[in-house]
Amino acid sequence: MADTLGTDWAIDWLRRSAATVADHRVELGELDRAIGDGDHGENLDRGFRALVAKLDAEAPPTPGSAFKVAAMTLMSTVGGAAGPLYGTAYLRAASAVGEVEVLDAGALVAALTSARDGVVARGKAAPGDKTMIDAWTPAVDAAAAAQGQGVLAVLEAAATAAEAGAVDTDPLIAHKGRASYLGERAVGHRDPGAASSALILRAAAGAAARNAT
Ligand code: ADP
Ligand code: MG
Repeated sequence: MADTLGTDWAIDWLRRSAATVADHRVELGELDRAIGDGDHGENLDRGFRALVAKLDAEAPPTPGSAFKVAAMTLMSTVGGAAGPLYGTAYLRAASAVGEVEVLDAGALVAALTSARDGVVARGKAAPGDKTMIDAWTPAVDAAAAAQGQGVLAVLEAAATAAEAGAVDTDPLIAHKGRASYLGERAVGHRDPGAASSALILRAAAGAAARNAT
């Protein structure tokens, strides 16, 4: 068993992301309504629906090209803070994996790390600022720790850590984004971008469970 993931996985990840964002559109909107402007679910759903339409029209030939289509589409259709942040994440992941047709555990860790680093470069958030970084950073750390156990373990570990990281934003005061205007009033609410990041990383693991070769 080669223990790699290929283009089918990458496309399946993006499609599953679209499905889970659609399923959680209202919930993400409610999280954002509590500490932001309420548009996070709608924004992401619009972007991922546009992405699915692009994937339907033309299947990308490599994981990297799939990530690049995701980057361009999310950047131009999602809007808000999250559009450029997710766009940058996928663009950096695309650069990290290059033109290869299959990704091993090390390539996956590199892609996730680059995606997280891209969000940090763009948004300048640190861990504990109550942003999507609080899902991404534990996800990257857990993925790196699981690298020796193979592709499925890497993505399962990333998803589980991202989910815990999103929950752990509940007691935090926000230091970036709209929620930072609320001060103490943000305490007790989950960061919507951390919640959507956990959904998207869980979708990556779900796709891997089906597509690992
Ligand atoms: P907007 O705040 O413009 O309405 P969204 O509602 O789509 O944008 O996205 C809000 C999410 O974006 C937040 O929950 C947070 O996770 C993320 N976010 C906002 N600013 C930053 C930043 N500087 N760095 C990382 N993530 C950020
Ligand atoms: Mg918003």
